[in-house]
Amino acid sequence: MDFKKNQEVIIQIDDLGNNGEGIGHVDGYALFVKEALPGEKIRAGIMKCKKNYGFARLLEVLEPSDARVEPRCPVARPCGGCTLQHLSYEQQLAYKENKIRNCLERIGGVDFSKVEFLPILGMQEEEPWHYRNKAQFPVREQPDESGKMRPVAGFYAGHSHRVIPMTDCAIQTPVMRDILQKILAWMEQCRIPAYNEEKHIGLLRHIYIRTGYHTGEIMVCLVLHAPNIKKSGISQGAFDALVDNLTKIPGMASICLNFNPENTNVILGKKTKTLWGADTISDTIGDIRYRISPESFYQVNPLQTEKLYQTALDFADLKPGETVWDLYCGIGTISLFLAKQLGENGQVIGVEIVPEAIENAKENARLNGITNARFYAGAAEEVVPRLISPTGGEAAKADVVIVDPPRKGCHQTLLDTIALMAPQRIVYVSCDPATLARDVKILGEKGYEVQKCRGCDMFPMGGHVETVCLLSRKAPV
Ligand code: SAH
Repeated sequence: MDFKKNQEVIIQIDDLGNNGEGIGHVDGYALFVKEALPGEKIRAGIMKCKKNYGFARLLEVLEPSDARVEPRCPVARPCGGCTLQHLSYEQQLAYKENKIRNCLERIGGVDFSKVEFLPILGMQEEEPWHYRNKAQFPVREQPDESGKMRPVAGFYAGHSHRVIPMTDCAIQTPVMRDILQKILAWMEQCRIPAYNEEKHIGLLRHIYIRTGYHTGEIMVCLVLHAPNIKKSGISQGAFDALVDNLTKIPGMASICLNFNPENTNVILGKKTKTLWGADTISDTIGDIRYRISPESFYQVNPLQTEKLYQTALDFADLKPGETVWDLYCGIGTISLFLAKQLGENGQVIGVEIVPEAIENAKENARLNGITNARFYAGAAEEVVPRLISPTGGEAAKADVVIVDPPRKGCHQTLLDTIALMAPQRIVYVSCDPATLARDVKILGEKGYEVQKCRGCDMFPMGGHVETVCLLSRKAPV
């Protein structure tokens, strides 16, 4: 198709893409338009054209979809965080459910007539807002309306590192606003320079906040562009002022500094120092209490996490005495959630790559009086084969294997190892249906069939979706 940049077109949107963008076709050529919805006729300006598809900017909605709603957040449009705020919540859930099914059918080759596909778990009853318990706000120095340079915190605009100032995010826990405002005021008062990414100078890179939903505990971590506290150049008086300000907020439990002197997009550096309070915060899921370090992964939507884990537990259908492997276990959340069901003779073995998370997992087991869980640090694809080797210290026995990998899915070596261990059931918890589908196909070739599947909306207003799949070993022919 021969479009020119800035050319205007009128198109009918017929689908939603993987990132929640509208897709329309002109003579078979696909155009992706952010914030356009299926069923809508729109006017759009061409931005970029590739051979088989292009990108256009929404200029005007000529015929709106019934599912279009007014976004709640004033910066929903420029901010890269929420991609679906303009779509009714009911339709967001339908979109996500469809995405799961499409991926599993098209990439995974799954026959849904044989699958118990349960309705997606949404937040219709709880309100799909202000749910996030963790945020990492980039900090920069930018001119305000009068042209004066001031520190700002907020979110990156889509596909860029320009910061949109925003302290009142509609999906974050409301207390974050107060924390951000206090830190920005402190920066001005104590002349703490914000980090400058282009010049690689300045100090405060990110403000990282995590809250415990049930405990109300708050952790604030300032990520500094400095190798250590001395080199940061912040005076003791300034630190005292920071602690003084932040501890006025009810629930403040931990204030720490993280040092990241590298020129990198990775947010956290390798070293963390506690400035005030505890090194961790705690939260509960069901009747288990968890301690969480800043480095450790912890699900961001506490209410939905409980539903997700309950689904994994239901699918696992555990019996006392069984052996369960929890791979990509983080701080042992799933392991400990199900350990009690296994009784004294059963056991759970967790593997996770972040050493601090494994420290948390071991401590969490102790804290909750759980004695039938063991944890190992390392990459699952290396650790599991080693553990089950004749000298590895663990028997190759597994009744159930649970995997909960990051977006890129499971390592091929791990899938091979799981097949060797031959569990009856595999519970796959996934945050990306495309890699889930790829892995389901591989496991299919190794004799596993999808029995049950259920989506869980961990990220209302965003495009991502969590899925739980139960796979069982086909009877040998
Ligand atoms: N099940 C946990 C964590 C899921 S997130 C929970 O629900 O909280 C995925 C986890 O996989 C993260 O903790 C990440 O650190 C870990 N991870 C990433 N790559 C890994 C690998 N190759 N081997 C083991 N763990 C890995």
